[in-house]
Amino acid sequence: MRELRKNPITGEWVIVSSSRSARPVLPENACPLCPGVLELEEDYDLAVFDNRFPSLVTDAYEPEIEFPILEKASAFGKCEVIMYTSKHDLAVPDMETKQLAKLIEVWCDRYRELSAMKDIKYIYVFENRGREVGATLDHAHGQLYAFPYLPPRIERKVEQTQQYYLSKESCSLCDAIKAMPEENTLKRGKYFISLVPPYARFPYECHIYPLRHVSYLTDLTADEKWELAEFIRDIAKRYDTLFKEKFPYMMMLFSAPYNTGELYDEFFHFHIEFNPPKRSRNKMKWMASVETGSWNFINPTSPEEVAKELREALD
Ligand SMILES: [Zn+2]
Ligand SMILES: [Zn+2]
Repeated sequence: MRELRKNPITGEWVIVSSSRSARPVLPENACPLCPGVLELEEDYDLAVFDNRFPSLVTDAYEPEIEFPILEKASAFGKCEVIMYTSKHDLAVPDMETKQLAKLIEVWCDRYRELSAMKDIKYIYVFENRGREVGATLDHAHGQLYAFPYLPPRIERKVEQTQQYYLSKESCSLCDAIKAMPEENTLKRGKYFISLVPPYARFPYECHIYPLRHVSYLTDLTADEKWELAEFIRDIAKRYDTLFKEKFPYMMMLFSAPYNTGELYDEFFHFHIEFNPPKRSRNKMKWMASVETGSWNFINPTSPEEVAKELREALD
């Protein structure tokens, strides 16, 4: 079964995807993402393929409505896997800028191709690194979900930034960048700033913002993409250096929506968030009752102190 069901209390769509077939049997310790093992036939540099266990598919069926209060929709969309490198042991903190810049081009290519499908409203690019955030394979890879609607947090971001724009006639993130205290900043480049925002939800949360107002990743110039590659690696490297381990994180890209009939260019500012699931080397920051039930986060650390720790990790 694979369909969308609407929660009548919150209005949020839930993807019910229970047809998860078993992973093919491979020799012990074989990595299905290494060249020639399972997913990819030959050697590759970067690669994109359809997720073997997709939650959203382009040939989704129309679900039957059993009773009117239960709103359903087809699980239309796309779930893709993006390989960063064919090298099994190479991950973001140690990748060359050139390779990460190529990865950014691959992301742009996916945004362009999938946004041409008029029923796709949001393209969500992300990476889960580490078992703690559900990555079952160690080989560096990211994913994307192409949604037929705006997921709740995206909807919230659009509402907030649009309201701000309507009342102040400026972009909230452009204004936040201008006002950002130095103590929250990790690195300031020609085109980007990285920081532990004063409003961080997770203890080691970091953001990357382009200094220039752009709404889509695809709006960046080649020089900007090159610097973005350096900024992405820099954060991953700071985590690994500070914690002396392959530090788990969720990296999430936020471009503006597509195909909704609305224009986002004036107020939606492209950004990247890193949310590590840990509060220290041996302690998890769990999504407990307050976070899960009320969508309200409690950050048990001071973002300014964390920024200092991360700054000093590489200095
Ligand atoms: Zn591998
Ligand atoms: Zn802006």
